[in-house]
Amino acid sequence: MKRFAPRTLATLVLMLGACSPTPATSPASGNGGKKADTAAGVGGNTAGSGGSGSTSSGKGGTQSSGGSAATGGNAGSGGGRSSTSGSGGSATGGSAATGGSGAGGVAGSGGSSATGSSARDAGPGGSATGGRATGGVPTGGVGGSATGGSATGGASTGGTLGSTISDDCTDQLAKGISISEIAVFQAGKISVMKNGSAVTPTTTSGAEIIQGKDGLFRIYVTVDSGFQSRSLSARLKLNGQAVGLYAKATISASSTELSATNSFTVTVPASVFGANLDYQAQIVECGSGSGTDHNPVFPTTGVATLATRKTGVVKITMIPATSGGVTPTLDQSFVDSVKKTMDSMYPTTDTQITVNTTALAGCTVTGATAADDVSWSNCLDKLRSRRTADKPASDVYYVAVLKPESTFAAFCGSGCITGISLVASATSANSRISLVDGYLPDALITVPHEVGHAHGIEHSPGCGAAEADPAFPYVTGGKGYIGWVGWDKQQSPIKFFDPAKYIDIMAYCSPQWVSDYVYKKMATRISTLNGARIAMPEAESTWRVALETGGNLRWGIAITEPVPPEGEPLAATVLDAQGASVAQITVYRTRTSHGGASYMVQDPKVGWATLQIGSSTLAF
Ligand SMILES: [Zn+2]
Repeated sequence: MKRFAPRTLATLVLMLGACSPTPATSPASGNGGKKADTAAGVGGNTAGSGGSGSTSSGKGGTQSSGGSAATGGNAGSGGGRSSTSGSGGSATGGSAATGGSGAGGVAGSGGSSATGSSARDAGPGGSATGGRATGGVPTGGVGGSATGGSATGGASTGGTLGSTISDDCTDQLAKGISISEIAVFQAGKISVMKNGSAVTPTTTSGAEIIQGKDGLFRIYVTVDSGFQSRSLSARLKLNGQAVGLYAKATISASSTELSATNSFTVTVPASVFGANLDYQAQIVECGSGSGTDHNPVFPTTGVATLATRKTGVVKITMIPATSGGVTPTLDQSFVDSVKKTMDSMYPTTDTQITVNTTALAGCTVTGATAADDVSWSNCLDKLRSRRTADKPASDVYYVAVLKPESTFAAFCGSGCITGISLVASATSANSRISLVDGYLPDALITVPHEVGHAHGIEHSPGCGAAEADPAFPYVTGGKGYIGWVGWDKQQSPIKFFDPAKYIDIMAYCSPQWVSDYVYKKMATRISTLNGARIAMPEAESTWRVALETGGNLRWGIAITEPVPPEGEPLAATVLDAQGASVAQITVYRTRTSHGGASYMVQDPKVGWATLQIGSSTLAF
């Protein structure tokens, strides 16, 4: 669940990007940060995505096994500017009879150069060159991953296609500089090399490189004293050297963790992150340089192989919830912004969101009841009933969206809950349900948080999040921090999130990002749901549903079609009309995200008057 404490309107405006029930005594400062970050990221994302162009097999020249060229990607262009398509990729034919290299394709033309002064304007796009035939096997290149230039215009990065790297630099290894670390970022930092030695690509809490998810290779450097600031290129050859990418940067000092300057950031498309991933990285001079030769190449011979983890897609059916008589429109821009956030934060290859326009009827959450647990959990129970009736595939998450007031301030002016979920087990298909408010930008924090609960993930400690996971590892001052350097691919220019400042998405504090601990749990659940068919060991039955809020039980919507039980089995007692115990039964408990619960209870038999769970009772 997500909850806002009551606040004044003025404070609420500051709080829009947050989702925490910050105690009234706490200042609201800092809570606006995530919102601002998100806004910047949206504007700049266009630049970052330039150049990851399509891969396509070009003509192989005159020989049947000649080289295949990849077409140039869209050149990077600034946010808000139209892209200029690269025109590369017309292979002119490899002399494939000998398996030799075909001539590279024509370089794609770069995007418009940065002419503006704002941070959103991009530097030149990457050049696209044709792929090269290797051994007569047409191997498609990969779109260049041109990312826009930084605000200073000094660190534009480019990409290439195929295995040919055309960075207009020399082949001389750079002088006076060494590679101190290499890390892969998909949502956070996974170190793969440190001080010249390969590092197992698993974080402290077990986050791994995810197959089919795009990311960033970051190459950190240490420079000698007296190092002359100059443009260098980091070349990255991937997957048997079939893919060549590069990033150019002006290096003037040694890298620091939280700034992208003075390091190389190579955007790597999802297709490169396969079951087999290997690389070699080197730094070369683009002009002339002098100094000690530290051999800035890793590994010095051959390639380094990286283990990856297969997860899969996250499927969401999004449903408008009619609440207080108001039905929101789930337009494409809302869906897209939710999808982008999920794709950035979750260890998934794709977040597939389908809108089901048949509204969930009869919810009673309004501005007046926005902070009322019972109104929210009753609506969630309607969603559970709806999902049970719809019978979607077992791995589909139902997310209902309500927006009963015109603005978030009107909705939350007296304090509010912004979302609620069941904390579902892997086998509890009908518990994969979340109810959220539909106000942006709040929903961009609430949806990943609530869908996290539906992935079986508890709260992380911080700012009043109930029943927090006692095993959460990175707690300081009662707050659960992210535990790794975070990265959101939507942010352009590139920004790295400080693990000393960012709080885990499953807590209530802000600013928020995902910890490697929660990311690992997400990966485990996603891969489980995408894996073998989940066994349903229990017999199917119809059920009563008992809802518990604040220790009080009430009946929810009965399940009238046979389904297996879901949840933790617990013993309960049945009393007769005189209060005597007449039966011991098993009920199945699924927690709601704020400490309440939903119980599946067998249908009553003759003589059953009262259900007793713990010390709470409810008449049949
Ligand atoms: Zn929660």
